[in-house]
Amino acid sequence: MSERTFYNEKQVREEHHLNKHTQEKLDLLNKWIKECDPNTLLDVGCGNGVLTNNFVVNNGALCGLDFSLSSLQELEMPAICGDITHLPIRRNHIDLVICSEVLEHLNDTQLQDAVFQLQSLNAPHIIITVPNDETLGKNSIKCKNCGLIFNVSHHFQRFDHKKLDYLFPDYRLARYKTCGRLVRSYVKPLLRIRQNLGNRWTYFSKQRYTQCPNCQTDQIALYKPNLISLFTDAFNAVVTQKKPYWLCAIFKRK
Ligand SMILES: [Zn+2]
Repeated sequence: MSERTFYNEKQVREEHHLNKHTQEKLDLLNKWIKECDPNTLLDVGCGNGVLTNNFVVNNGALCGLDFSLSSLQELEMPAICGDITHLPIRRNHIDLVICSEVLEHLNDTQLQDAVFQLQSLNAPHIIITVPNDETLGKNSIKCKNCGLIFNVSHHFQRFDHKKLDYLFPDYRLARYKTCGRLVRSYVKPLLRIRQNLGNRWTYFSKQRYTQCPNCQTDQIALYKPNLISLFTDAFNAVVTQKKPYWLCAIFKRK
């Protein structure tokens, strides 16, 4: 599975570390965990455990699950190597499911399967975090090898709080909150001008790692600003506002 090779990359794992923004998200999640007071907590798609290793569960059992075996090696608790679309956990064994920065990485079919699987656990609560109303195309890049246009972080889904209302049919959206660094959305017609006319794709540095989902190359061209992109960026800054990057939500079983 090619996506797994991307998440197994050391550089991808190292991008996820605790900074003041992830700390803000962690504090919110720990507040919600305390309110749920679970005996069993499962973190689905825990990655390298940057959040999971810092969850506070009073006398409860905490377990992480991820499909990247190399990420799980950094986990400081019991871990399961598994896929969100085929969860190897029996129904009624989990009190709280957390799924942070995972759902946006799934295609439509995988998202459908993941929602079904998460609901099947029948936990009283589910907490998810996703990017907040992300302009997916803003973070797109063009593979110089095969020409595929893809989101650098391999995000395929966009969520806002309205979409969350209908995400889990067996659950109701109890609360949601935004947090994290402030980012700007991009007006789509301006983005099309910037990318198609200006051939200016997302800001991308050599320090950052990505991989083409089609041909798997990690040799990505670095696109420089030009007159067209400077104009569209400036115009976009006038007509849009910044908003927090993450959307966190807690669902209660109906
Ligand atoms: Zn490619």
